[in-house]
Amino acid sequence: MRRKLVAGNWKMHGNHRSNAELLAGIAASRPFGCDVAVCVPYPYLAETAVALAASDLRWGAQDCSAHEQGAYTGEVSAAMLAEFGCRYVIVGHSERRQFHAESDALVADKAKAALSHGLTPIVCVGETLAQREAGQTEAVVKRQLSAVIHALGHCAGEMVVAYEPVWAIGTGKVATPEQAQAVHALLRAQLKAATPHADQMQILYGGSMKPDNAVSLLSQPDIDGGLIGGASLKAADFVAICRAAG
Ligand code: PEP
Repeated sequence: MRRKLVAGNWKMHGNHRSNAELLAGIAASRPFGCDVAVCVPYPYLAETAVALAASDLRWGAQDCSAHEQGAYTGEVSAAMLAEFGCRYVIVGHSERRQFHAESDALVADKAKAALSHGLTPIVCVGETLAQREAGQTEAVVKRQLSAVIHALGHCAGEMVVAYEPVWAIGTGKVATPEQAQAVHALLRAQLKAATPHADQMQILYGGSMKPDNAVSLLSQPDIDGGLIGGASLKAADFVAICRAAG
């Protein structure tokens, strides 16, 4: 059986005091029966690394540059994230695709940069409401994943995939377990055609996952955890989701 992963995406939230409280609240609730990670804003990586160093909790970032180094003002490289002990980096979140015009090709290059520095990319794919209503869900997620599979080649089995329907992110509208499972099964089949490791790969669901819907989503055969936005900012909610996964 695949071990589940619950990863918090703090987005652009937090401050020194609230972060310390949140991390302490999560750490105090260990052990969990699943992998648990928090993806924090860049300036808080150092303190997160210190706070979690003695625990089995993992941390990561929410984006990385596709470039190794150079004149890219404002960007942060995968090598820099590795220096802060990051295990994961989210790439291709729909907010990056939407607000920063990130293309499939750029997301794929970011995933490749992450892997080349020992980070596990959490690659987000997902359709908008208009795309779902137009019957394009399958084509959209396959196109997004295909770009990354192609770029990673024989290392494709090392990524984590997150299915995040854009219409469910931060909206309180959650995909039904059946809707999510259907897409996860498609993604698994696509991965199977690309890598012998597809059955061991974690495919997370993200989009308004909360303590009250986590069990039904996480009990689906191809849902191997969650990428959690809003509910990752409250220790009690995040811990409840981790317990549902474990
Ligand atoms: C996310 O931003 O990755 C996310 C899933 O957000 P939320 O849980 O708030 O919908």
